[in-house]
This record gives sequence, structure tokens and C-alpha cells, in this order.
Amino acid sequence: MPLLFTACGKEDPAATTASSPNEPTVAPKPVPKFEPDSAYAYVARQVAFGPRTMNSPAHDATRDWLVEQLNTFGAEVEEQNFNATGPDGTQFRGTNVIGRFKPALRDRILLAAHWDTRYVADSPLEDDPTAVVEGADDGASGVGVLLEIARHLGNDGPEIGVDIVFLDAEDQGASENTESWGLGAQHYARTLSGIKPRYGILLDMVGGKDPRFAIEGVSQHFAPQVVQKVWGLAAQMGYGKYYVNEDGGAVTDDHYFINQMAGIPTIDIINRRKETESGFVLHWHTGDDGMDAIDKVSLGAAGQVVLAVIYREAAGTL
Ligand SMILES: [Zn+2]
Repeated sequence: MPLLFTACGKEDPAATTASSPNEPTVAPKPVPKFEPDSAYAYVARQVAFGPRTMNSPAHDATRDWLVEQLNTFGAEVEEQNFNATGPDGTQFRGTNVIGRFKPALRDRILLAAHWDTRYVADSPLEDDPTAVVEGADDGASGVGVLLEIARHLGNDGPEIGVDIVFLDAEDQGASENTESWGLGAQHYARTLSGIKPRYGILLDMVGGKDPRFAIEGVSQHFAPQVVQKVWGLAAQMGYGKYYVNEDGGAVTDDHYFINQMAGIPTIDIINRRKETESGFVLHWHTGDDGMDAIDKVSLGAAGQVVLAVIYREAAGTL
């Protein structure tokens, strides 16, 4: 057991400023090691349910499993059900699954990823009309990384509130219609009340090999200070070759609605490619987005940096 209590002023000065002189100071908790194998297993488990398309049995089963996992880790869990209309008029029964760690703390950070998968492999790079999007990278990778982070937070986590939000119905949109994407994020942002997280980090498509987490445009527009924190820390930690200081272009993703509608400065860590017209990975919205598309090194690069953001924010050293 590490030393938890220490006299004022002996440790990191940033950690002592919040305490009154009469209280013992809690030493900041060290950043735990993010386990890529564990995150990979969480991705594989989601894929094993089958495509998580709206209103499908695999979707319902995955939702229940996400709730169960967050409960196991000791979060206060909310299933935020909503109804939404797809671009062709289909009615979706959606659920944002929210796990709150240290729910009483007012100082909070939001971590999010979408857990639904796209109903159609409509990438121009897909020739097979029967191809199905398994969504290992597009959806499950971000959720897998956040589950591994949740496991650490539940296990003697740091003194900061964290809301992990698994957003539904992100990927059911029509390309020309911005509002048809991020339906779960729109519901979350519209109905948010009470304590608002200080800022948010969205993870989407973080599992592809040799990721290029370039600075995404919506993030830079709404949350430049969060971009600076995360990319600066990533460079310090030796992940600069993935978190490149380059313009990644703007993406309509869940963070757009959280920024616009809820006013929470939120960034998107997303693999941006130069070699494709879409700017996304080659397997995006194709039949190739299965477990073969997932690299543990990438999950580790995404997860270890975000985990460090939380622990260092709690310690006042970010
Ligand atoms: Zn997608």
C-alpha cells in the first residue's frame, strides 16, 4: 500500500493547494498502466454480439452487457433511453449508457464513445453489396478503451468525477444531413442537467494500425485548450508520433453536438488519414472493420494518454 497521507507542503505543491491546513493531504495517485490486452478483449466481446445496429437483438444484448460492466466497476449507472427518427423515417429505440464515478464530486470530466454500428457498408471503397459493418474500430474500439479506463477508475480511482458515456445512434445518419448523426449525443446534450463536466474527450476509431490522431477541426474550434492539454501530454509521454501536431480536418461526430448544444468543450481523438478521400481509415464503413482491423498498440496509445489526463487532472499536475 503506498503512502496515502503526507504532511502539507512536502509533496507536489499543486496537490496541496486545495486542502485546508488542518486536513491531511492525499498524495496524488500514480497513473496506472493501461492494459491494451484488456481493452482488446472488451472490443472483441462487443464484436462477438454481432453488429450493434439499432433495434436489433445484438444491440439490446450489448447495451445490457455495457450496463453490467459499469456496475461491476462500481459506477453509478444510468440507462438514458430515448426515441429518435432515422433519416428514412425509421424509429430508433436508443440508449445512452452512462457510468458516473465519484458521482458526488462537482469537478468532473466527460469521456465518451459511440457503441452502435452502421447499418450499411456504404463506403465507396466497398464493392460487396452484402458486406456488413462489424464495427470493431468504428464504435467498439472507443468503448473498449473506455471500459478499460472504467476498470481502473472503479479500482481505487483518483479524486475527480468522471462520467463515462456510451452514446447510441451515432452512426445512422445520411451524409448530407448533419443532424441525422449523433442522435444519442444530441439527446445527452439536450437533456443534460445538474453538474456539467469541465470538458469532454470523445474517442472514435482509435483501434486502427499506426493511428494518426491529427488535431480535428471541431475540437480545435470549440476546445483548443483541451487539445493543447491532451496533445502536449501525449508528446511528453512519448506518443507524439501518433498524436501529430497537424490539422486533421473537421468531422461531424458526437463531440460536435456536445460542444454546440451542451457547451461542454469536447475534443475528438480520431484516426485521420491522408490516403483516403473520406479522411477515415480504409476499413471505415466496409466489411473489413472486424477484429483484424484492431491493433493493441493503438488502443494503448489512446487509452494510456486519456488515463493519464484523468489522474494528472485529479492531482493538479496537468
Ligand atoms: Zn461510422
